[in-house]
Amino acid sequence: MLDTVEPLGTEEVPVERALGRVLTAPVRAAGDVPRFPNSAMDGFAVTAGPAGRRLRIVGESRAGHPAGETVADGTAVRISTGAAMPAGADGVVPVEEARDDGDHVTVEAPVAPGRHVRLPGEDLRAGAVVLEAGIRLAPAELGVAVSAGAATVTCGRRPRVTVLSTGDELRPPGAELGPGEIHNSNAVALAGLATVAGAEVLGAERVSDAREATRAALSAALERSDVLLLSGGVSVGPHDHVRPALAELGVEERFWGVQLQPGKPTWFGRRDARLVFGLPGNPVSALVTYTLFARPALLALQGGTDDAARGEAELAVPVRRHNREQALRVRLERRDGRLLATPNGPQGSHVLSSMVGADALAMLPPGDGEAPAGFVVPLIAL
Ligand code: AMP
Ligand code: MG
Repeated sequence: MLDTVEPLGTEEVPVERALGRVLTAPVRAAGDVPRFPNSAMDGFAVTAGPAGRRLRIVGESRAGHPAGETVADGTAVRISTGAAMPAGADGVVPVEEARDDGDHVTVEAPVAPGRHVRLPGEDLRAGAVVLEAGIRLAPAELGVAVSAGAATVTCGRRPRVTVLSTGDELRPPGAELGPGEIHNSNAVALAGLATVAGAEVLGAERVSDAREATRAALSAALERSDVLLLSGGVSVGPHDHVRPALAELGVEERFWGVQLQPGKPTWFGRRDARLVFGLPGNPVSALVTYTLFARPALLALQGGTDDAARGEAELAVPVRRHNREQALRVRLERRDGRLLATPNGPQGSHVLSSMVGADALAMLPPGDGEAPAGFVVPLIAL
């Protein structure tokens, strides 16, 4: 699937609006950071020398207001954290080690050259790559970009996503439910997942279980979107209209059906560069297959890679195996130096609460009987 995904292109994004975006060109430091030698403490800038000296205070260096005066043997400049070191000073005596009597200060500790001084380039070196292309921009990365001097960053274009939930039974959040009706939880959950993956969600609509309505909704969504996230209607029931409608609209099926529990009916296809994910309707199946298939694709469209943390853990309890690979929702806990995975409640594909508080998907390979406690399973962090 990922082999067929081409990145959508790039754009310059102001750093203030780049949270969660994929960086597609490296960020280099425009200059040294720190840019100038400055004090790591509130205190006095002095020349190097022994304890016990009594020095005349000749000026003050505050953050943003460097001192004009020069420091020499016998003098000191009052200094704040982050303020520029005055010419002639070698080090800083913190206020805690100084007796300040207004005009003079007595230094109670020896000062070696460079003491409590931050040097240019200690954080970032001019010209060095400080953020690599392909990473996602979290708050710390944005802070580093700003301190490196950037006002904008080059990012992958955000995929435009339409979420379509199929099902006559679906009602909006909070609606009073008639017989056989349920609240449409997939629309909100899938839109949220796509948003945190960096996508721009154009809309989340409900589509009724009718052939023509399904075709019309898919057709309109395909015109304006890079990615369609469909939920429901991709199984083999008489009211599952998604596959025939997609075929009529020229969306080429790449796969239908995966050896996964939950998530068996998952469908993937494309029309030109547009990607269509037909996710199962069961709420857990929809979120699990989104995580395993759609999320990596959304990141690849932005020029990034699947950045979900991976690892492995031991099952804390025996788990019945299945003839398909299982994606168990687990909580993780460290006990006696071992990482243990406990299923987060009942694992039915309709038990959406099993996703709440789950730390990871534990991928249990297919097999017979039970996997015993201690069985090692690969993890994909949620
Ligand atoms: P389907 O894949 O359409 O056969 O649906 C499978 C199950 O998931 C049924 O129990 C549906 O009622 C349920 N379901 C389908 N879509 C949603 C949705 N958007 N939100 C919550 N449950 C859903
Ligand atoms: Mg349905």
